[in-house]
Amino acid sequence: MNDESISICVKYGFDDTRIRETILALDIHPAHADLADRISREVIGDKADELVNICFALLANLREFSLIKPNLDVSVFKQIWVDQLQRFGQGFHTPKYFAERLTLSAARAHDGLSMSVLHLQHQITQQILVERLITSFQNDPETVWALMPCILKFIALDLHLAIEGYHLQEIEDQQNKLTACRIESAKLYQKVATDQLTGVMSFSHVMEALENHINKAVQTGTTLCVMMIDLDFFKRVNDTHGHLVGDSVLIHTAERIKSAVRDFDMVGRFGGEEFTVILTNADMALARVIAERIRQDVAGTPFHAKEHIIGVTISLGVAMLKPGETREAILERADVAMYEAKQTGRNRVVVAEDLEQAASTLEM
Ligand code: GH3
Ligand code: MG
Ligand code: MG
Repeated sequence: MNDESISICVKYGFDDTRIRETILALDIHPAHADLADRISREVIGDKADELVNICFALLANLREFSLIKPNLDVSVFKQIWVDQLQRFGQGFHTPKYFAERLTLSAARAHDGLSMSVLHLQHQITQQILVERLITSFQNDPETVWALMPCILKFIALDLHLAIEGYHLQEIEDQQNKLTACRIESAKLYQKVATDQLTGVMSFSHVMEALENHINKAVQTGTTLCVMMIDLDFFKRVNDTHGHLVGDSVLIHTAERIKSAVRDFDMVGRFGGEEFTVILTNADMALARVIAERIRQDVAGTPFHAKEHIIGVTISLGVAMLKPGETREAILERADVAMYEAKQTGRNRVVVAEDLEQAASTLEM
């Protein structure tokens, strides 16, 4: 029990030194043990239940209290209160005393009891003990003056521990909520960032990633290429085999594209049956190689639907980032190149720079 109390105290930041400092700060001395014992016997006596019932009735009147009442086992709540009164101040210097009060207020925080109600519970207890002391020792002011500070000190100690336990629990609860929020938002982000059908990046994530990688490429002076990919005659697949098979062909094609690029290249679905690939640290020579590899991989790996083998081909347009170019501009050039691949027979790779060079040669 003692080991458990010590570890609870340590969790709440109350090592031996802090326990001693707290007692000292409240000016509680070993002599207070005897005074506390007198309070238990002569002020509280066998009336702990009665006193708690009076205090509880006052507390239960509060709207804040009644709101959390369904969360509480009232009889347990009262019994703990009675026990603490009966053992008033007993063992105040021990980790057990501290651990009991710290965990109790943490539990109250968890139940949703407000700090102000917890505070009031201590104030009411103090008030009723003081009143009882005065009425019990009307003709003995010396005893009143001897026991009164003891009541105030131990209630102050209990309140201090209640606040400490309460705060740590609050922080823990907040942290748990924050962690749950973070997990939830990471899940949501993952959902938004992923194309639900094919599992590659979604359109919005592609746009965001492209913006980031363009900025990085500009900062580090590295090259970046973009591909636009469109399935050839995909409408026929839908028309012949149905939309569901069409979906499976899209999933299959996305997998082929992913397996043909480098691990760190980013594959996204641009919408419909169009995909895009962002190639970081890739110049045009490398982009050509990768584009051709994708094309061959897709063309060489038909999709097996139940009794059908469905050949799939794609047309690809590739563009390399020009100085000062925006993401929209590079995508547009890749798209024009892809359109050219369609115009010139499909199942082809066309490089934007080749088109532009051909155009400028024509102009000359
Ligand atoms: P082209 O070679 O010129 O690109 O011909 P195409 O038939 O691929 O082009 P078109 O733009 O005429 O047709 C694209 C089709 O893709 C039409 C549309 O119904 C289909 N499509 C778009 N999104 C999806 C999807 O999520 N699932 C399925 N199954 N089909 C889709
Ligand atoms: Mg198409
Ligand atoms: Mg299309």
